Amino acid sequence: MNAASDLEFDGLAAIVTGGGAGIGAATIRALQARGARTAALDIDPSGAPEGALQIQVDLTDSAAVTAAVDRAAEELGGIDIVINNAGIGAQGEVDANDDAEWARVLDVNVISVARVTTAALPHLRRSESAAVVNTASIASMLGLPERVLYSASKGAVQAMTLAMAADWVAEGIRVNAVVPGTANTPWIGRLLEKAADPEAERAALNARQPHGRLVEPEEVAEAHCYLASPRNRSTTGVLLPIDGGMTNVRTRS
Ligand code: NAD
Repeated sequence: MNAASDLEFDGLAAIVTGGGAGIGAATIRALQARGARTAALDIDPSGAPEGALQIQVDLTDSAAVTAAVDRAAEELGGIDIVINNAGIGAQGEVDANDDAEWARVLDVNVISVARVTTAALPHLRRSESAAVVNTASIASMLGLPERVLYSASKGAVQAMTLAMAADWVAEGIRVNAVVPGTANTPWIGRLLEKAADPEAERAALNARQPHGRLVEPEEVAEAHCYLASPRNRSTTGVLLPIDGGMTNVRTRS
């Protein structure tokens, strides 16, 4: 066996939405290190890792998404893996956001998953190693304060993951999701910048996680890779928390 054939994604092509920053960029690096050809589909793909095909696309535009996915398939020679990772935040109680903001956040966080996956489906059906990995959140598992809209969007991603897994299990297209805890990405950097006392806010976020620190984007990237890996062909319909124990662990008996 030569060295190249040891790479689990050797010969496979992956598209990563939101691959221009944070978790998506880390996932592209991890996929590349395991041999995948990659494309970053992002409204600003300029921060995508070197070697990734950068495709500028607003995921709320259906025609643009179809064109972007088709271009990725053409330049990468197919699509085997879809990492639906792009997302935006929303804060406040149920009355905090108007109809337009509800529609905008659900468009980016939920409908874009349907758009990208639909556009990629003909390519996935031609693959022997087809996998879709979505990106939910602890906000879809737990009740967090002032996250109603964001939680609704990630709850929908979680439910879609299970439903799509059921639809395609017989075809061999696997669908799973990562469920990250608070992760050390530009997103959290922006949230901390807005806080009255950013250092105190960071300390509070660290303390909220049972393992006492934020989740690193590379740790979520590992989970994206695990769930997408052709070595895990029996893994489908799984919601995998990468959250330092926040969902399932209590530190006091
Ligand atoms: P980030 O803000 O650092 O990166 C998100 C990327 O998505 C950016 O490159 C951005 O340009 C892109 N994007 C946003 N809207 C887009 C659109 N309409 N079209 C195309 N691209 C668009 O975010 P992150 O922290 O890396 O988060 C990645 C995913 O992980 C998101 O789905 C987020 O909800 C989820 N998540 C993050 C955390 C966290 O604490 N950071 C926790 C749980 C889940």
